Amino acid sequence: MSHYDILVIGAGPAGLAAAHAACGGGVRVGIVDDNPLAGGQIWRGGPDRQADPRAQSLWSALRDAPNVTFLPQTRVLYSPEPGQLRVQSAAASDTLRFGHLILATGARERLLPFPGWTLPGVTGAGGLQALAKGGYPLQGKRVVVAGSGPLLLAVAATLKFKGAHIVAIIEQAATPAMARFALGLVWTPAKIGQALRLAAQLKDVPYLRDSYVHSAHGDGTLQSVLVQRGHGRELETLQCDYLACGYGLMPNVELAQALGCATASDGAQTVVDADHFQQTSVLGIYCAGEGTGVGGVDLALVEGRIAGLSASGQIVPAQAEFGERARWRKFAASLARAFALRPELATLAGDDTIVCRCEDVAHGELRTHTTWRCAKLQTRCGMGPCQGRICGGATEVLYGWRPDAVRMPISPARIDTIIA
Ligand SMILES: Cc1cc2nc3c(=O)[nH]c(=O)nc-3n(C[C@H](O)[C@H](O)[C@H](O)COP(=O)(O)OP(=O)(O)OC[C@H]3O[C@@H](n4cnc5c(N)ncnc54)[C@H](O)[C@@H]3O)c2cc1C
Repeated sequence: MSHYDILVIGAGPAGLAAAHAACGGGVRVGIVDDNPLAGGQIWRGGPDRQADPRAQSLWSALRDAPNVTFLPQTRVLYSPEPGQLRVQSAAASDTLRFGHLILATGARERLLPFPGWTLPGVTGAGGLQALAKGGYPLQGKRVVVAGSGPLLLAVAATLKFKGAHIVAIIEQAATPAMARFALGLVWTPAKIGQALRLAAQLKDVPYLRDSYVHSAHGDGTLQSVLVQRGHGRELETLQCDYLACGYGLMPNVELAQALGCATASDGAQTVVDADHFQQTSVLGIYCAGEGTGVGGVDLALVEGRIAGLSASGQIVPAQAEFGERARWRKFAASLARAFALRPELATLAGDDTIVCRCEDVAHGELRTHTTWRCAKLQTRCGMGPCQGRICGGATEVLYGWRPDAVRMPISPARIDTIIA
C-alpha cells in the first residue's frame, strides 16, 4: 500500500497545476490518471507535445521532481475506508493511502438524443476530436460539427488540421447571446487572441448560429443530417460522412459524490461544492478544475494552483490567486449564459429514439416515468457499463431528472480487482 501526503486524481491542467503547486514544499505527491499519458482533454497526447508553454513547463517540473510519482493508466474505483482509494492499473489493483486528496477529474461531453443519433458515423464533438488526436484517419472525410459552445471551434480546427473537410459548424446558441459574449471577451484578451486564431483557421467553414441538428440519416451508416435553421425556418440537408455533435460539458462529480463531498446544481450543471481554498465539504478533500464548474483551461489552472497550495499548507500564496480565479469565474458565467441550451433540443427524440444506449431504452419507455430512480428500476436505464454517464446528462435535459446515487465501483472494474 503506497502512501502519498497529497494524492491528485486527474492529470489534466487542474491536476498538473495542483501537483506542481504542492510539490514545492517537499511533500510526497502522487498523480493518478486513467489515460496512458498526462494532459487531460485539452493536452491529450502528452503535455510535453503541446504548443501551450504552460503545459510544457508544468510537465518538465513534475517529471524532474523526485517527490512526485505519476501513475498512468490507473483508475480510481472506490474508497475502502477514509484516507484510502482502491485503484486499478493495466496490470494490477492496489490501494493508495493519502493525507490530502485533490480531485481534478474534469468534465465530459453532454450528448443529447435525436432521431438517428445512434447511427455509425455520429459521435460526440470532443469524442471525434479525441479519436483524431489518437490517429483515427479522417483525411478527406466530410464532417459536420454540431452542438454548442466554443469547443466546437476547437474540434473543427483539429479535424481540419487532420485533413477532414468541415461541411459546417452548427451552433444552437442565438446570435444576440453570442454577440454579448463576444463583447465580454474584452476582459479576457487572451481569449480574443484564441478566438481570432480559430476564426483564421476556419475562415472558409460556414458557421450556422441559431441552428441545430434535427435528425441524422443513412442506410446502416451516416449519410446526411437534417439541420433546423432558427425558429420556423426551413430544414436543410447536409451530406456528410461524420457528425460530431456535443452540447457543452458536464462536470465529472461521481468520485467526489462517492467520497461524501456535497454537490450543488444550478439547473444547468451539477458541480462539487468547494470553499475559497477549493476544499470540499469533506475535510482534507479538495476539488479543482471542471469538477467545480465548467470554465476552460485558465480557470482549471488557477483552481489547481489554489488547491495544491492550500493542501500543502501554503495559505498566503493561495490567497494571492483569488483575484485571478474571480476573473476566470466571470468568464465561465458569461460562457454559461451565452450557450444555455434551447428548449427545442428536448423535443427532438421520437418514441423509438434510444436514450440509454447501454441498455437500449427508448424515449417512449422513459417519458412515462417521473424520476431517475423510478426509470432505473422499471426500465434498466442507466444500469449499463456507463452507469448513466451518457444518458444521465440526456435525461436531465429531456425530463429534468438528476441521478440520485453513485454505485461502487465508480468505473467498470476487472473481476480480479473485485475479488481482491
Ligand atoms: C472531450 C473533450 C475535449 C476537449 N477539448 C478541448 C479543446 O480542444 N480545447 C479547449 O480549450 N478545451 C477543450 N476541452 C475543455 C477542457 O477539458 C477544459 O477546458 C480544461 O482543460 C479542463 O481541465 P481539467 O484538468 O479540469 O480536466 P481534464 O483535462 O478533463 O482532466 C481530467 C483528467 O482526470 C482523469 N480522470 C477522471 N476521473 C478519473 C478517475 N476516476 N480515475 C483516474 N483518472 C480520472 C481524466 O481521464 C482526465 O485525464 C475539452 C473537454 C472535453 C470533455
